[in-house]
Amino acid sequence: MTSPVPSSVIVRFAPSPTGNLHVGNVRAALFNYLFAKKAGGKFMLRLDDTDNERSTEAYAQGIETDLAWLGLTHDIFARQSDRIADYEAAATKLKAAGRLYACYETAGELDRKRKRQLAMKKPPVYDRAALDLTADEVKAFEAEGRKPHWRFKLADEETTFDDLIHGHTRIDPASLSDPVLIREDGRFLYTLPSVVDDIDFAISHVIRGADHVTNTGVQVQITRALGATPPTYAHYSLLLSVDGRPLSKRLDADFSLQAMRAEGLEPMAINGLLARLGTSDVVEAKLTLDEIAAGFDIAHLGRADIRFDPADLDKMNAAFLHMLPYADAQPRLAVAGCDLGESFWETVRPNLARFADVKLWASVVEGPVSPVIEDAAFAAAAASVLPSEPWTGDTWKLWTDAVKEKTGAKGKALFMPLRLALTAHEHGPELKNLLPLIGRERALARLSGASH
Ligand code: GLU
Repeated sequence: MTSPVPSSVIVRFAPSPTGNLHVGNVRAALFNYLFAKKAGGKFMLRLDDTDNERSTEAYAQGIETDLAWLGLTHDIFARQSDRIADYEAAATKLKAAGRLYACYETAGELDRKRKRQLAMKKPPVYDRAALDLTADEVKAFEAEGRKPHWRFKLADEETTFDDLIHGHTRIDPASLSDPVLIREDGRFLYTLPSVVDDIDFAISHVIRGADHVTNTGVQVQITRALGATPPTYAHYSLLLSVDGRPLSKRLDADFSLQAMRAEGLEPMAINGLLARLGTSDVVEAKLTLDEIAAGFDIAHLGRADIRFDPADLDKMNAAFLHMLPYADAQPRLAVAGCDLGESFWETVRPNLARFADVKLWASVVEGPVSPVIEDAAFAAAAASVLPSEPWTGDTWKLWTDAVKEKTGAKGKALFMPLRLALTAHEHGPELKNLLPLIGRERALARLSGASH
């Protein structure tokens, strides 16, 4: 017997707590979670909170609440604001290696440089003027009270990586400005902390949106400059709205996890849809993350644009409820005060778009229902042939055959008045199953026009 090989897969979801999770950025969490789950690896939640002006504790809490609601539980947790000393150590190492250099340009000066370059039809790449500053010039800037910001010196070599979705990818550093890693107020921008964390937490795979491909070129170089081996990368295509524009927090506020939760959408419907959007895999409801993970393959994510249609989420939500077993629904039915048993659940679940709809059908069963009676004589005739109890799944057929014989009504003219009398609704669960739940006493009362 071979002993199990310990998995070395460690992935991370690294949101900045500067906003709420929404359908776009939660895909990063889901893909990383599923990837880890399938590989028997670990999933890390890392809060990228070095921007202490925009990060808030409330957003951090919100992210954790949303992930817990989706069931995307993490094995490892870290906050970048706890690890500043580690980033300082990495910065010192890069400075010593001549890869991190001080720059004194103000934002205005940089802007003027860029405009001049553009006017000369040159790419607006930073000219590295800071590397030529003399000791006296630096002294003069410092005397003026200027504080430096620090740029990473990109090596002039083609940088490549093998992306699990895009394949072999090349980034030409000549087209990029040396990235600023430390701001003049001493705060770290996202890039260096991310690399340091990916190294220190032994992240094996970085799975993130295609908007990070250029960052990856830079991060691969920084990782190597710190003497480490870059992880494997996968960049998935971003979601667009139905009309093809990038999703926006403002225009698509309905797609925040908070809003979707308030809307009564099921977390497993969201997981199920988002895990398959952008793949050619069948999109079907699944009950558990394990089942979703089993069918998940990062390489199935394509490079094409993906449109997110909320109607698909509604469909998935309904499909999920339609297959939800009573054992899973029962605690929620109890909380909603409408646990009327397994046959009730099985009768009504095909009619649910949202779980809360169950309350309507419980009230239809239990009453009081104000019956809709258009033809009192017909209702009385129907009542007169109502079978005696006990009632089963066959009672409906026996009864409607008898009503047909007595009144001559058939088809819609037979069924609709009965449905309206018994439920006061034109549509609903199959009456064959609903009738035994309503029971003879209530049925008789409703057929007589009494509210019961
Ligand atoms: N905080 C970054 C973001 O939210 C993380 C990107 C990454 O996965 O490295 O975009």
